[in-house]
Amino acid sequence: MKRLHRMRATQWLRNMSSQVEFTTSHLVQPLFVVDRLSKSEPIANLRGAQRNTLSDALRVIEADLEQGVRHFLLFAIPHEKSDGGFRRDGETAIISRIKDQFGSALHLWVDTCLCSSTSHGHCGLFDSNGSLDLETTLSELSLAALKFAQAGADGISPSDMMDGRVKAIRQTLDENGFSMVPIMSYSTKFSSQFYGPFRDAAQSAPQFGDRKTYQIDVRNRSDAIASSIRCKDEGADLLMVKPGLTSLDLIGPIASQTGLPVGAYQVSGEYAGLELLAERGALDFELALLETWYVYRRAGATFIITYGARRAREIGVHLQ
Ligand SMILES: [Zn+2]
Repeated sequence: MKRLHRMRATQWLRNMSSQVEFTTSHLVQPLFVVDRLSKSEPIANLRGAQRNTLSDALRVIEADLEQGVRHFLLFAIPHEKSDGGFRRDGETAIISRIKDQFGSALHLWVDTCLCSSTSHGHCGLFDSNGSLDLETTLSELSLAALKFAQAGADGISPSDMMDGRVKAIRQTLDENGFSMVPIMSYSTKFSSQFYGPFRDAAQSAPQFGDRKTYQIDVRNRSDAIASSIRCKDEGADLLMVKPGLTSLDLIGPIASQTGLPVGAYQVSGEYAGLELLAERGALDFELALLETWYVYRRAGATFIITYGARRAREIGVHLQ
């Protein structure tokens, strides 16, 4: 029942009349905001996206709202990296400033992970033997989610792939009076080459090893679906496949097996790939972008997280 209430809170499913058509309300714009950054910086290989100072981010959000964007996925990037005992002051200041200024005009999902906070860039914490310390990782993630909700986050979006993290976060939110805050889980997340430009944006490239031990191999269909089902069972309200491109065939099966809305994350490498082809005159960027969005919708995606959400209106996607 609580899950149903949370779904109403997202107001996301009101415009589902067409399988393929969509409006700006189906698009989610990622934002990268860096605590104590002195000047906004372009992101290498991801034209149009920036690592913003908070004051620039507020201007960007205002312009995005004018373009009809309503849903944002915030990557709040802390100034200081650490390997435990995260204070989260910088991130929570970013969230509360955005919500203070724009209130319910926007729906602010907050990416929740440890990789932009840790000095090693991994999504979890390690014990003194160098093994993943799951218990501490889950408690840090839950605490982060709680602080973000207290700061005004409209939704929590856990992007690590640690076992049990949705359950731990849900429980912490519920116990602290945030049962209405929905969880949009990165529920099927593949290990992929297509994340390249993003890692630059979030300064989260691992300093050693890689994330293959906790991200899914693209050849593994059954694990990929099971991962989303597990997130539902743990209490996720919305699910997501990432990268969208390498998960197209899984969106429908995950939606039908869980009964939850499933979104596609059009990741940085997919988006930047279109830009590079357009620069070479090989395609029309806007038409190609729209084509990919139609295909995500055709595959069954309820929502699309894309760096191009703010360009939707200019390329002909209508307002709700
Ligand atoms: Zn991470």
